[in-house]
Amino acid sequence: MVSIHAIPAFRDNYIWALENGTHAAVVDPGDAAPVESFLEKRNLQLAAVLATHHHADHVGGLPALVAHWRCPTFGPAHEVPSGIDTRLAEGDRMTIPRLGIALGVLDIPAHTAGHIAFVGEDMVFCGDTLFACGCGRLFEGSAAQMADSLAKLARLPAATRVYCGHEYTLANIRFAEAVEPDNRKLAERKVRESAKRERGAPTLPSTIGEELATNPFLRCAEPEVVASAERHAGRKLGDPVAVFAEIREWKNSF
Ligand SMILES: [Zn+2]
Repeated sequence: MVSIHAIPAFRDNYIWALENGTHAAVVDPGDAAPVESFLEKRNLQLAAVLATHHHADHVGGLPALVAHWRCPTFGPAHEVPSGIDTRLAEGDRMTIPRLGIALGVLDIPAHTAGHIAFVGEDMVFCGDTLFACGCGRLFEGSAAQMADSLAKLARLPAATRVYCGHEYTLANIRFAEAVEPDNRKLAERKVRESAKRERGAPTLPSTIGEELATNPFLRCAEPEVVASAERHAGRKLGDPVAVFAEIREWKNSF
């Protein structure tokens, strides 16, 4: 039985740890120190490191962890975080035998050019692409690419648990409310997520179903989202990708 833990790092990053009581794997270790103290406290051996993309706040701790544990490392084929020994792209599968886990890989470019997601066992580790009620910034890709990447994640089963890289949920919900003020499920989600933050708990994981109901970046064909985006743009927007591009821009200055 594998359980998942959030290891907080820096200001608002989460390093995800999967563990079975003797071994652990970590996803996106931006910093080694909080991972080492997590492992020590629970008396766990590190069995694998997974990375979704090359940003330092996701891989900065990788060299120190590998130097200590000599464990396998998995990361994107189409970008070059140093220290990755197995480079993965869409359609590949990877296994962590010590945890009895196998995960598939999706290419989800746009935040970075080679960003990948690890998918399986009713969960997805999606780094900085899909956030709870939001999405990542377009550092190395276009709005059309990000819309495609999000659509790929949105097609996962509704019960899939979403483990993303940052605790941005409440700020994302404030923006989502500006886009969709009449979304009742969004209002309910705000109450739920605010309560979690008040007791110091992560808002994550969410689920794909929850994101489909409340995340404006997955709802670019919804009439209220289209109307808000067009009001903000001051013109008609031809298709969902144009709507997506407009609200992504709007969020940058929100
Ligand atoms: Zn990033």
